[in-house]
Amino acid sequence: MVSWKRVCVTGGAGFVGSHLCDALVGAGSEVVCVDDLSSGSRSNVAALLEARGAGGSGGRFSLIEADVAGGIPVEGPFDAVLHLASAASPPEYLARPLETLAVGSSGTLNALDLAGRCGARFLLASTSEVYGDPAVHPQTESYWGNVNPVGPRSVYDEAKRFSEALSMAYHRLGKVDVRIVRIFNTYGPRLRPRDGRVLSNFAVQALSGEPITVYGDGSQTRSLCYVDDEVAGILALLDSDVTGPVNIGNPAEITVLELARKVIDATGSASQIVFRPIPEDDPTRRCPDIARARELLGWSPRVDLEEGLERTLAYYREILAPGSASGLFAPDGPGPGDKQAGAPR
Ligand code: UDP
Repeated sequence: MVSWKRVCVTGGAGFVGSHLCDALVGAGSEVVCVDDLSSGSRSNVAALLEARGAGGSGGRFSLIEADVAGGIPVEGPFDAVLHLASAASPPEYLARPLETLAVGSSGTLNALDLAGRCGARFLLASTSEVYGDPAVHPQTESYWGNVNPVGPRSVYDEAKRFSEALSMAYHRLGKVDVRIVRIFNTYGPRLRPRDGRVLSNFAVQALSGEPITVYGDGSQTRSLCYVDDEVAGILALLDSDVTGPVNIGNPAEITVLELARKVIDATGSASQIVFRPIPEDDPTRRCPDIARARELLGWSPRVDLEEGLERTLAYYREILAPGSASGLFAPDGPGPGDKQAGAPR
């Protein structure tokens, strides 16, 4: 891994962002995390903050609470800026449509400007959602996608597509050295309980003995990547000379109904599967073609679903245990169309 001296991570207190911060600090970087804590949380970076207090990571981590759409109140120098800030769970971004568009547009502009001022490399966390409901399967980076520009999901999908366009414009103008990663569905410890995403919902429902809510008939597919693999892929791209975009995800495809059954088996839960209406424009299938990541980055995922599920369930068992001090468990988290659970911006 390249040794990055000082790195700014927007959204660094979120699910993927906090694991990236762990990896960067662990590799010796100083990390300045900027997060408005609307979907991220202080507890995700508690170990990094405590280690700082105890001198463990030598003061190499700091958390600045700010909404990057309004500006990024940090001082350089930075040699890399990683832009992850955004709601990523469908119920959350559907409940915060304007904030999601703002962070994808103004937030990305601010992060690119910061990178430009510092001469830092810029990495954009883009998404498989740029492919929409894909007509090409598995999805290659050369596929332009099938997004409904006026559908409810467009606030996220189009914001990310705009972020890619903006980043490439900066790159082509020679203002910033850009890397674009398209992140596919990712799971693992710190995926907020009941944040609306499928594995978070199913795991918490199974462990709590509640019905498992499958949307539609469950025949839609996803391909789930364990967070350690995702972070390794993102960092391999950051370290490389590849602008991208590059898909980083696990190509092991599974239907949502199969996933529900796997979670029930892995937990030994007595929960029953119940079927709920499918959200509007829910993609029918999704699977990354990762030939580019394999060839150009030498990256491929290592953790299969069985192992990743075990590790993730261990995390949920711990934080759901009675008396857990994590403070992460909100009994009534968001469902599709519910109001968002995060703090207002
Ligand atoms: N899903 C489901 N039940 C849930 C949450 C999600 O059946 O409680 C489905 C959802 O409709 C979608 C898939 O699981 O087809 C993945 O949803 P998620 O919100 O995790 O992410 P997406 O890939 O849609 O952005």
